Amino acid sequence: MTSVLDVKNLSRAFGGLQAVRDVSFDVQEGEILGIIGPNGSGKSTLFNCILGQLVPDDGEVRIDGEVVTGLRPSQLNRRGVSRTFQLLQVFPQLSVRENLILAGQEHRGSRLKRLFGPRDAGLTTDANRMIDFFRLGHLAEEKAGGLSYGQQKLLDAAMAFMAGPRLVLLDEPAGGVNLTMLASLKERLQAINAETRATFVVIEHNMEFVMSLCTRILVLAEGRLIAAGTPADIRSNPDVIEAYLGH
Ligand code: ADP
Ligand code: MG
Repeated sequence: MTSVLDVKNLSRAFGGLQAVRDVSFDVQEGEILGIIGPNGSGKSTLFNCILGQLVPDDGEVRIDGEVVTGLRPSQLNRRGVSRTFQLLQVFPQLSVRENLILAGQEHRGSRLKRLFGPRDAGLTTDANRMIDFFRLGHLAEEKAGGLSYGQQKLLDAAMAFMAGPRLVLLDEPAGGVNLTMLASLKERLQAINAETRATFVVIEHNMEFVMSLCTRILVLAEGRLIAAGTPADIRSNPDVIEAYLGH
């Protein structure tokens, strides 16, 4: 079976700092894969290389078996790849609904030009569907900047699903989110995964969240992949415990 995402021998340095070292893994359709590792272990750099935001120094990225290394984010978007950001990318002055419509338009050209140009009725329908799915109905007309941090993270996740992606990369979706919103976020992500069979790769610091959401987990330390396995394997892996305690 062809993997949805296949990463081979990926490396990326910043000057003398080797941020990602020879990382290889693959992800099957419908899987929810977690990536954990101490701060600075290269998780976001790995995502940025996969998503075309950074060019790797070495290695290859395949989507559905096709080499996509070096393609721009917009080109990957058109192939059904979407992401959330560790630092929120919602527009604070725009409403929840407008943010979702913008996210849906993103792969078609300049966001702002599209927002203030003619509205695509299909996108409004999609935005409303996403609002219902993520239970943001009571907030649809609110400016995103007025939402709680957890609500903004939920909106950020909903935005990643606007293009109907097949592969979604989530960078610390649970960071700074309170317990109630965490449960709701996890439950909604599981529901959308079950419903659409979209494949997820999730970077996360919150161990409870990542261990209960993901079926398989990769561990990065100093840019290297040091372990891979089920949540139970990872919890008891001495190299993983060492990587966390050694810092
Ligand atoms: P993580 O997401 O696991 O916390 P990052 O991928 O953000 O780690 O960072 C890995 C290493 O690369 C860190 O030492 C970080 O300081 C460095 N780094 C990340 N991005 C840049 C950049 N644009 N320029 C220089 N160094 C960077
Ligand atoms: Mg990061």
